[in-house]
Amino acid sequence: MSSHTPTIVAGIGVSPGRVVARCVLMPDQAPEPPSGRRLAPGEDVVVAAQRIHAASQRVREALDLAADTATGTAQDLLRTTAAIAADPSLVADAERRVTTDNLVAERAVWDAAEAVSAQFTALGGYFAERAGDIADVRDRLVAELTGMPAPGIPTSTEPFVLVASDLAPALTATLDPRNVLAFVTIAGGPTSHTAILARARGIPAVVAARDAGTAIRTGDLLLVDGAAGTVTVHPDEAEVAALRGHATRTRTFDGVGQAADGHRVKLLANVGDPHDAAAAAASGAEGVGLLRTEFAFLDRTDAPSVEEQIAAYRLVLSAFPGREVIIRTLDAGADKPLPFLASDDEANPALGVRGLRTARLHPDVLDDQLTAIAAAEHAQPWVMAPMISTVDETEDFVAACARHGLDMAGVMVEVPSAALLSGPILASAKFASIGTNDLTQYTMAAGRLLGSVAELSDPWQPAVLQLVAATCAGGAQQDRPVGVCGEAAADPALAVVLVGLGATSLSMAPRALAGVAAVLATVTFDESRRLGRLALATHSAAAARATVRAELPVLVELGL
Ligand code: PEP
Ligand code: MG
Repeated sequence: MSSHTPTIVAGIGVSPGRVVARCVLMPDQAPEPPSGRRLAPGEDVVVAAQRIHAASQRVREALDLAADTATGTAQDLLRTTAAIAADPSLVADAERRVTTDNLVAERAVWDAAEAVSAQFTALGGYFAERAGDIADVRDRLVAELTGMPAPGIPTSTEPFVLVASDLAPALTATLDPRNVLAFVTIAGGPTSHTAILARARGIPAVVAARDAGTAIRTGDLLLVDGAAGTVTVHPDEAEVAALRGHATRTRTFDGVGQAADGHRVKLLANVGDPHDAAAAAASGAEGVGLLRTEFAFLDRTDAPSVEEQIAAYRLVLSAFPGREVIIRTLDAGADKPLPFLASDDEANPALGVRGLRTARLHPDVLDDQLTAIAAAEHAQPWVMAPMISTVDETEDFVAACARHGLDMAGVMVEVPSAALLSGPILASAKFASIGTNDLTQYTMAAGRLLGSVAELSDPWQPAVLQLVAATCAGGAQQDRPVGVCGEAAADPALAVVLVGLGATSLSMAPRALAGVAAVLATVTFDESRRLGRLALATHSAAAARATVRAELPVLVELGL
């Protein structure tokens, strides 16, 4: 029997799934060594300087090893960091600071890294962006020299729940779901890319768990519920046994999304990395509802060539022959850095030149992208633009697509103005897809990456649901399909509401398909409309969620 009483730490569930495992806390970063700290009298200067070279080799080897098992962006990031760690000029400068200034090795490294970082920042552009990598290398070298754990994901002899202050998307991308069964962060928002990655990789996750830092210690047994957004510290044995009993149950999706009365709702996949398209098809997805094309080109300093793009799009299109594949044009800015498109001098990037707005400054980039999509040889690729705010923008985009022979031109509805004007917008666009992540951010005036306003950034907010209903009404008026491709579509209870409000398709991380399909199959279309009305009539996100969930007991039966 456990001698502890169970305690519940509440946060926001961003990736469903319930797991029980022991906690490993993300180690503290090595602190900045005191400024000007010198070697003790009698300490050997040469030996101290040699430690730097040895440390840089060990850090490089560890990073290369991690890169060998990573893929895509995470692998590139680790290789770049490894190269910086072994950079001879950085090491030589640090050694000189030991031999001439008598500094201790860790302070010498710190100062040498600061000097390189200042030079890079002054050069601007690509070099300025590498300043973060230099800080990472600096921290790794200081940790190595002072015997602290290396920054990054800790390891353990058995699978664990990772608890961290926050997790960068790049680190989340390297998590191995066989070791990290779930993660909990003290900061973080529900629609950040960290949360999206967690869902895509099927790792249950809770963010904005503010009390996790004080209530949880390494080694504590935790029960994480990534749907409810709770972490039970020292759960009682009955709860643990019940969960373990359910652990073997798996669900699959048979490839046809429909309500209990046969009302069809296409269930599609969101795809970021084009290499994931084949797995999305294998999971039963009826097509791709959102190809986030910028994911293939993040951190690039130059625009991708037409040929490169054709190859990337073909990879996705060939996984879905004859199926609907919606390619979104590059969505740069704010949470999606694309240095070749985004302006970096805006006080408020989420409200600046992002999404389709970048096409005004860089019409050639949009033109190349449409050329590549048209050349990718698919019966009928659907193309849509992110961040549409006006009817004029829609008409311009539709005309640009037509010039490339792309007839199925649509819009993302992510800005309240587009939701309210969906009727006239859909008079020229052939379809709409509601991006509830941004629509929530702009409706509630709450940054999607911020844990501090996470309660506001909730797609269950009745104001967001009203705008979804308005968008679908505009679609019905023009007889155009309106799908949802934001993360809201992956929440099985909310998915039913979205269908009831008029969504004709739902697009989500492939792992969410089976759960959404299973719940949708238990309600008739009329029933979903009733649940939609119930949700619209509430006055808070919590009330909307609780009211609808209470009407869907199947959620508890299915562990959703
Ligand atoms: C959205 O905003 O809901 C969306 C699907 O686009 P992204 O998350 O890529 O901004
Ligand atoms: Mg968006």
